[in-house]
Amino acid sequence: MAHRGRITTFASFSLGNTRSVAINTILGFSWDQQRGRAENLATRYPFAQDALGFFRQLISFQETMFEGLPVQPEHVPVEKDGPFPLRELFGEQHHDLLLSKFPEFLDLVQKIAPSALAEAAGALRSVPAERWEALLDAYWFQDTGQPDSPDEAGAIDFFPKAFLQPYAAGLANRVRGDGNEAGIDWKVAEGIGVCPMCGAKAQVSVLRPESHGASRTLLCSLCATEWRFKRVRCVSCGEEEFDRLLYHSTDQFPHVRLNLCETCHTYIKEVDLTKETQAVPVVDEIATIPLDIVAVERGYHKLELNLIGM
Ligand SMILES: [Zn+2]
Ligand SMILES: [Zn+2]
Repeated sequence: MAHRGRITTFASFSLGNTRSVAINTILGFSWDQQRGRAENLATRYPFAQDALGFFRQLISFQETMFEGLPVQPEHVPVEKDGPFPLRELFGEQHHDLLLSKFPEFLDLVQKIAPSALAEAAGALRSVPAERWEALLDAYWFQDTGQPDSPDEAGAIDFFPKAFLQPYAAGLANRVRGDGNEAGIDWKVAEGIGVCPMCGAKAQVSVLRPESHGASRTLLCSLCATEWRFKRVRCVSCGEEEFDRLLYHSTDQFPHVRLNLCETCHTYIKEVDLTKETQAVPVVDEIATIPLDIVAVERGYHKLELNLIGM
């Protein structure tokens, strides 16, 4: 019943009724599923309570924003052979609508985030709007340069990423049509862990039950598109040598493991839905903080930092 109001709202996307339910999700799961899972895991893993509390407040803002998203044109031609179709859809009219919501977002982050991030939000609040626009544009086109330190990149990237996620997810759903996984098989990733829809990096790897075991997909950190990926392949450099790809898991999190590459020293977490059907990959990825600590202590860097900056 709670979905009814949202379906009405999403009619403004000109998607037709049958697609509206799929639209009401980001990173493949509904807002309620994500919130529920975050509450559940906060109880199970007390060390992740603060992080998950922040995440829940953040996604509540995203949900509100998602519901107020701008009307899309009826038909936008998408060149499926071209790279990253989502980039074409970042129209002029959306700039203004999105920008008008950015101050509110910064105020929220200032209020709910850990101190360093809150301070960064405060600093960003005082710069001219042209700088915000440049920040959002650069992130959308993944033209953020190569900062000296990955940590620095993570802190700066948080703002455009967290802010643009709902918009990107809405557009991506529209391009995919019904949100069906098969819709993205036009670009099965032989390459690296970059989203075929928008060009952003993968946030988390996912194993889903399939007839003879499990299939592997990657989940986009920006637009929530999920695409198939080889089981034995590094998401960063494409390494396929079996003995260069390592895995690390602990009894504490039997359904989440680290995929580590000895060639480029990148890691990504993999959430196994065959082992825990209730898992919500993006939430479980955030909650399993001790795995990040292990990876970083061993000298690996993450392909894409998550919303809590881990
Ligand atoms: Zn994407
Ligand atoms: Zn690698």
